[in-house]
Amino acid sequence: MNDFLPYGHQVIDDEDVRAVVEVLRGNMLTCGQHVEQFEQAVSEYCGSGGAVAVNSGTAALHAALLGAGVGPGDEVITSPITFAATANAVLYLGATPVFADVSSETLLIDPEDVRRKITSKTRAVIPVDYAGQPCDYDALRSLATTGERPFSIIADACHSLGAKQGSRNVGALADATCFSFHPVKAITCGEGGMIVSDDQELLTRARRFRSHGIDKTFKDRQRLGSAVYDMLELGYNYRLTDFQCALGASQLLKLDSFISQREKTARLYDDFFRDEEHIASLSVLPQNKHAWHLYVVRLNLEAFRLSRDELVAALYSLGIGIAVHYRPVYLHSYYQSLGYDQGLCSKAESAWNEILSLPIFPGVGQPDVERVVTSLKEYLR
Ligand SMILES: *Cc1c(COP(=O)(O)O)cnc(C)c1O
Repeated sequence: MNDFLPYGHQVIDDEDVRAVVEVLRGNMLTCGQHVEQFEQAVSEYCGSGGAVAVNSGTAALHAALLGAGVGPGDEVITSPITFAATANAVLYLGATPVFADVSSETLLIDPEDVRRKITSKTRAVIPVDYAGQPCDYDALRSLATTGERPFSIIADACHSLGAKQGSRNVGALADATCFSFHPVKAITCGEGGMIVSDDQELLTRARRFRSHGIDKTFKDRQRLGSAVYDMLELGYNYRLTDFQCALGASQLLKLDSFISQREKTARLYDDFFRDEEHIASLSVLPQNKHAWHLYVVRLNLEAFRLSRDELVAALYSLGIGIAVHYRPVYLHSYYQSLGYDQGLCSKAESAWNEILSLPIFPGVGQPDVERVVTSLKEYLR
């Protein structure tokens, strides 16, 4: 279908292509200077003390949790309204994901429910900056630091690169912050991810974990004139290539413009839905500058002629790529097999039945928005 409008899509220009080709014609395809340059650029953008590039957002979460010391027997509190990878990263480390409910207005993790889920085993919380707006980090920070046993805040900011809370950028709000550079995200490397943090110890451990748990990189060995290295712990190959980092660095230059284009699209949707009583946009906290990764509406399904899933199918057949973010993680078969109860987070479960993510990315214009809104309203009773 030619005029298929997906919910998200990358924007690649000639500069991006040139940046990648230049690296492909060079000497180092991986472990070269472009990795460090991209790390430095993202870390400067966010105002964090350092960064570690990895080959996916999932790897970033895995490595950041490891860097924060999460291991077997620990509990990590997170939101059920997220991509499965958030909770999967906890399982990779032998720790237990504990789900705290979300606020119905924002679908962001509710600090009050986080407080109820804290135990002596809580080692970290992973706030998910759902749709692109930062969670309530002040409230989470006070929970993390004032209890009997302090715990880490590892942000899943795969939606919120470029967002802000007050004067602070995402990347400077948590103990460590994880980004994804998958094509639907704010900027892309094809696949890729990054951890930013002020905690040099956490970053060092994550950096080692990215390369098998080995103490010296290829470059360290060259510098030291030594072929000897030691593997200190069980790591992975989570490295990101130089040509992907060159793409990421080139994309980063356009991030602010991408976000303002997304914001324009969001304003158009807002205008259409403001007076529509059966289609509600999510709320934005006053202190937040939103990155608009997703534009999510919540439907009063009683007012529609179709069920939510029929609505998705109908819009698809009109060439509109609606998505649903997300089915609560613990309702997936695998998590059910681990014994998570249905009904665990009632607000998340009722939201999941009523939400739709509408197309938003740089390049979605007024005619697209009108087409989406008109199509959606066709199915109102
Ligand atoms: C995209 C995403 C991830 C995983 O990132 P990948 O780069 O696809 O591994 C994790 N959490 C959230 C909320 C995401 O949107």
